[in-house]
Amino acid sequence: MNTTTREEKIAIYPGSFDPVTKGHIDILERASNMFDRVIIAVLKNSNKKSFLPVKDRVELIKNSIEKLKNVEVDSFEGLTVEYARKTGAKFLIRGLRAVSDFEYEMQLSQANMSIAPDIGTVFLITKPKYNFISSGIVKELASFGEDVSKFVPESVVEYLRKAK
Ligand code: ADP
Repeated sequence: MNTTTREEKIAIYPGSFDPVTKGHIDILERASNMFDRVIIAVLKNSNKKSFLPVKDRVELIKNSIEKLKNVEVDSFEGLTVEYARKTGAKFLIRGLRAVSDFEYEMQLSQANMSIAPDIGTVFLITKPKYNFISSGIVKELASFGEDVSKFVPESVVEYLRKAK
């Protein structure tokens, strides 16, 4: 019998989630099967003009992940690797949709690798049906009154309907 205690494997899924989409939730569901705990963390980025307040983005994620018992939602400022260290996470999760994502994500992951070699990035490839979904496309469609229920969780549909 193996009696060694295993260290809890914690991962951070960082991003803007402005708003959260079904593509994000799919990545999160798969990550939750791979790690003991996953923290989906909304970045408060003062350089990026945002659509929704951070508080609302966090709330919308919470309402979309009730089934996922090992997932927590949080927000943070500053470097992702610093936040990861604070929470004890050794892994960052990022989703990849296309080659265009890959270039940026590789740079980001290598920059993180150089400042925090103890923290690794795990890439999950999107399901083809979510390939073209981005928060940007959702914002654009919603601004023209289009139905976005195929792309985002029900709580986001409701929120956008009320915000109109
Ligand atoms: P960021 O501003 O950090 O890119 P996003 O909220 O746009 O934040 O995305 C967070 C992560 O989720 C990124 O790794 C992004 O590539 C990934 N992602 C976004 N949309 C999808 C999708 N439809 N399928 C899979 N991954 C996605």
